[in-house]
Amino acid sequence: FTKPFLDALYIIEKIEAKGFKAYFVGGCVRDLLLEHDMKDIDIATSATPNQIQNIFDKVIPVGIEHGTVIVRHQKKSYEVTTFRLDGSYSDGRHPDSVQFIDRIDEDLARRDFTMNALAMDKYGNLVDLYGGKEDLKKKLIRSVGDGMERFTEDPLRIIRAIRFASQLGFSIEEKTLLAMGDLKNEIEHLAVERIQHEMGKFFAGKYVDIGFSYLTSLCLHRHLPLFKENPYIIDKFPRPIESFLSFGEVIAVCHLLEPKLTVQEWVKQWKCSNKIKTEAITLVDIFNHYKKQGLDEWLVYQLDPIYDEGFLRIVHYLDKNHEINKHEIKCLRNSLPITSKKDLILNGHDIIKIFPQEKKGPWIQKLINKIEKEIVEKRLKNNKNDIKEWIKCNPPEIN
Ligand code: ATP
Ligand code: MG
Repeated sequence: FTKPFLDALYIIEKIEAKGFKAYFVGGCVRDLLLEHDMKDIDIATSATPNQIQNIFDKVIPVGIEHGTVIVRHQKKSYEVTTFRLDGSYSDGRHPDSVQFIDRIDEDLARRDFTMNALAMDKYGNLVDLYGGKEDLKKKLIRSVGDGMERFTEDPLRIIRAIRFASQLGFSIEEKTLLAMGDLKNEIEHLAVERIQHEMGKFFAGKYVDIGFSYLTSLCLHRHLPLFKENPYIIDKFPRPIESFLSFGEVIAVCHLLEPKLTVQEWVKQWKCSNKIKTEAITLVDIFNHYKKQGLDEWLVYQLDPIYDEGFLRIVHYLDKNHEINKHEIKCLRNSLPITSKKDLILNGHDIIKIFPQEKKGPWIQKLINKIEKEIVEKRLKNNKNDIKEWIKCNPPEIN
């Protein structure tokens, strides 16, 4: 066991001490066998959410109807889910019904792929009813049971298959792949938020080029928002495709590859958060500035350091001839005379004092913006006298 599992043993042992069963399950077991780092530890149990709430002090009821709660232990979160059977997902979002059950076997049967249908007890014994371990060895993504049935139940699994191909570099088993092709139309009935969540992970995958081959060979993009009406965009992606760690980067790239479709349109159709929207807009603005003027003071001044890496990934992907690196951005940023408007030595009040007889208006902000740019681009020093002199030579248009 690795450290995260050892930490989580406490949860399993505490549940079992009350007479229930509990296992590590799903992605964490898969990642342990693959010797990959894991994001989070999921636990499956015969205890109901209410019973879990009685056992632990800190329980967050995130999805009680589906049997899921989060247990907090030593500042970490563990998703604890009651063994369950799922009905079909006719709203494209949630199973119509869930039935809590007493055995891990049937719970594993509802899971998507053999490699995800693995459970492990506190001693490290594997419950592997579908040959998941063997498939991990063969690097194969295979449906649990009949693919046609499983993808009909929840077509999101079609997207999940290519996202795992992208993350793990695995192949999709033949019958599973055929079923995906047969049922791909069903993707269109899914809740867009679910698609976005999986496609975010897809584009961030280490082997995204492999995932992308599946996406295009199955023509899955023809069933995704906005790609559906504009399938030709997929051919504009330079190959090999590279990983984009956040969805804002993906949207920025989509827009840069086809400027006819605005960021707003992508954001709307893919139901993105404001955070993603802001990121995409920033990255597009910065990239367009970069294309026109190159990497300069004004660019790094505008670029929030949280977007540095994303910007570099986009440049690396779309502008192969002009390599720039983190170091260059940092150096240039360190050389900036100011880091934001707040650092300007002169503010609106000072400007009004210089023009006591003029009425307040948008001209003040415009003047400040001009001064800001002069200073950032090092044509003007950030001191009062220099700025006053500059204003004399460049009087504002007031009207
Ligand atoms: P990651 O490491 O990216 O979190 P994961 O395998 O943990 O990968 P999750 O989306 O967190 O994936 O889901 C946890 C587990 O729940 C999966 O391993 C799988 O067993 C099951 N699962 C999740 N979504 C589905 C689904 N749509 N259909 C069937 N089983 C699913
Ligand atoms: Mg997970």
